[in-house]
Amino acid sequence: MTRDKKRKAAIRETARTTGRRYTAVAREMAAASAAPSFQLGALLAECASLPEVRPDWTELDHEWAPPVFESKLVGTAVPYGSVLELAGLLAREGRDAGLAVESVSPEHSAVVTCGHRRIQLLISQANAWELCRIPHCADRRYIDAFTHCTEHFSRCDAPALVRMGQEWAYERVERHDDNRAAAGGSSEVDDLVKAAVVQGCYDALAKAILDGLFGDLDLLDDLWINPDQQLAIRHAREREGARLHAVASAVVRRRQAEGRSCTGCGRHLVGWSGSRPVLRCQKCEPSQRSVDPVIGMLLKDLANADRRTP
Ligand SMILES: [Zn+2]
Ligand SMILES: [Zn+2]
Repeated sequence: MTRDKKRKAAIRETARTTGRRYTAVAREMAAASAAPSFQLGALLAECASLPEVRPDWTELDHEWAPPVFESKLVGTAVPYGSVLELAGLLAREGRDAGLAVESVSPEHSAVVTCGHRRIQLLISQANAWELCRIPHCADRRYIDAFTHCTEHFSRCDAPALVRMGQEWAYERVERHDDNRAAAGGSSEVDDLVKAAVVQGCYDALAKAILDGLFGDLDLLDDLWINPDQQLAIRHAREREGARLHAVASAVVRRRQAEGRSCTGCGRHLVGWSGSRPVLRCQKCEPSQRSVDPVIGMLLKDLANADRRTP
């Protein structure tokens, strides 16, 4: 397949899985792969050598604004501190990191891209932060593990959603390392779960989250030597599994209550599988993407326990 054919196939696939128009996806992917126009090192050299300026601002007051220099690379006056914050965010990429300017809004901010990452340099304060990876989305990323804003989870493919869930679990464990049994129960991950139900990767995401938070089910006895601790972790994992499943089931119930039919064949939808998009029937999506047997068993157990509970 030629490079152009590969590019078009990738656009068609994204358009198919997200249900969006081909042209919109094509535009977005072209923007995301914009060629870098300068290196971080060059911007740092400007920052280190150019003098402070006082631009003709109409809204910003120099008294309150941080010291700025006129960056030829960015195309506006930017605070020294914002460029240093940017360098901190890109520390792993190093001085050779290729940057491109996505947009400039004088007196407010400039958005630069580094590969798929988008970073907003603030002008009224010496700061920089990462934005959602969808070009021109203004949403800031508050959780490091999430590369996209909640709204744009719907534009992520299954591997991207699962990766975010896994990263999120690892980050959360770092915060709860002293009491792993308390690592579950956060609603931070709920929107990711809802997106996975739509995308058809709920099973894989739930497993990634549960393994990330509590360790692989088969290895629990090796990971936790103290039997009380083992039991506590096992219960915590079951509780979190049931909680995630409840979040997913609510999405399925809502879709089915709306009387939505299969997007492939128009048939009425009955039942649900965590490895199939919620709006696809078994016939249209027969290639089940590896249902995890552990999760399947766990959920069956929980469902039976529910039935036993009066
Ligand atoms: Zn977004
Ligand atoms: Zn169908």
